[in-house]
Amino acid sequence: MSDDVPRRLKLWLPKRVIVTRSAQAQEHGRAIAARAAALGVPVDILSSDRLGLALPDDPRQAYAEAKRTLAVTVAPPSRLRLQPIAPSADWRVDLAEGCPAHCSYCYLAGSLKGPPITRVYANLAEIVGILPGYLGTGTVTSRSKARANEGTTFEASCYTDPLALEHLTGSLSALIEAFGRWQAPVQLRFTTKFAAVEPLLALEHGGRTRMRASINPAAYAPFEGGTDPVAARLAALARMARAGYPIGLTIAPIIAADGWQRAYAGLIAQAGTALADVPDVDCTIELITHRYTPGSKAVLDSWYPGSKLDMSDANRAEKRTKFGSVKHVYDASTMKELRCFFEAELASTLPFARVLYWT
Ligand code: SF4
Repeated sequence: MSDDVPRRLKLWLPKRVIVTRSAQAQEHGRAIAARAAALGVPVDILSSDRLGLALPDDPRQAYAEAKRTLAVTVAPPSRLRLQPIAPSADWRVDLAEGCPAHCSYCYLAGSLKGPPITRVYANLAEIVGILPGYLGTGTVTSRSKARANEGTTFEASCYTDPLALEHLTGSLSALIEAFGRWQAPVQLRFTTKFAAVEPLLALEHGGRTRMRASINPAAYAPFEGGTDPVAARLAALARMARAGYPIGLTIAPIIAADGWQRAYAGLIAQAGTALADVPDVDCTIELITHRYTPGSKAVLDSWYPGSKLDMSDANRAEKRTKFGSVKHVYDASTMKELRCFFEAELASTLPFARVLYWT
């Protein structure tokens, strides 16, 4: 084992796994249940498709209990009608919904309703089976002059962190292999705050999966509870690149806290060091500034009342989405300062990487 490979990664284990009747009827659902049982996790097979969670009344306890619960379910029909996901990809493909980590800015707080359990989908064969119908139909990256060469793109990290769950599901490996066999201009994309890439390294990926490490300075680790250390994520990314995968950095969310210039300069230098010896690296960069909605802020305040993450009005501006809802983003002068900084720092420290977008 080389020095840049973390010796030991802590893999998430739920306190319990519940399997719906429909999920148990699927081969992949039974395989997930068997993996969980082999790892010593109690597995309940339900006699119906109702999860019936029975969480405690106390909201803190209910949150903790939900976060420790993994449900194996069948993706509903709405998940099988893919949606565009700008600016990352033409289409969003979901293998799961929810995440076991505890990030105090988590974008899922505004997107997913109900208790934050993690649901993984048993009907993987059906999910993989719908993808060919989307070939050549993209309207996001496929319509971009700079990115059309990526083919039809599919993003698997919209509602979950798929690598966080891979030791329990095997779903990401199966999807990577499906893209590996798919002789067409397509790209699977996933981004992660985890590092356990071992099961992915030897897969026949065909260069059609791009893994990105989602990174922030180590000083921001208190905002990213339950994730793997950023050094481990970068080491994992370098291993994936050496295994022939195209890779990327998702610097997200960019947080303009006191001392951000020094913190992000250090992070970019750290990424440069981690990738320095990787031959012919194909590396992209995505830059996403911190934002929140009134709804996500209310949920996050209730989940993480002690968080030091600034979600006050300081340095913020309101932005209306095309659906009319409000987002709080950094104001124009903060945005400009951040953007100039990242453009200059990335050009000088990671000149081999190309920036896909800033938002
Ligand atoms: Fe949310 Fe990503 Fe953190 Fe999981 S790792 S809690 S999906 S921000």
